[in-house]
Amino acid sequence: MSGRVYRMREYTLSPGALDGSLPQLHRARCTTCGAAGPGAPGSEEAMRWPHDHVRDHPRHLEYAEDISRPYQLTPGRWLP
Ligand SMILES: [Zn+2]
Repeated sequence: MSGRVYRMREYTLSPGALDGSLPQLHRARCTTCGAAGPGAPGSEEAMRWPHDHVRDHPRHLEYAEDISRPYQLTPGRWLP
């Protein structure tokens, strides 16, 4: 026996950081070579990068948009 006592606690997961320090981030990624554009706060701004990338890589025609969305765990009640 370790002699330790553990207590379980509920948590609620919700979108957004409490202090706003982790903004949602959009980024275009070339699915051919894996290169990615700069992160941007909005989709429209992020998806300009493929137009720049295709000029140097004319055969790279497929892209994905990666979205990073912050979440916050909020501690709840202690469980019996
Ligand atoms: Zn590429």
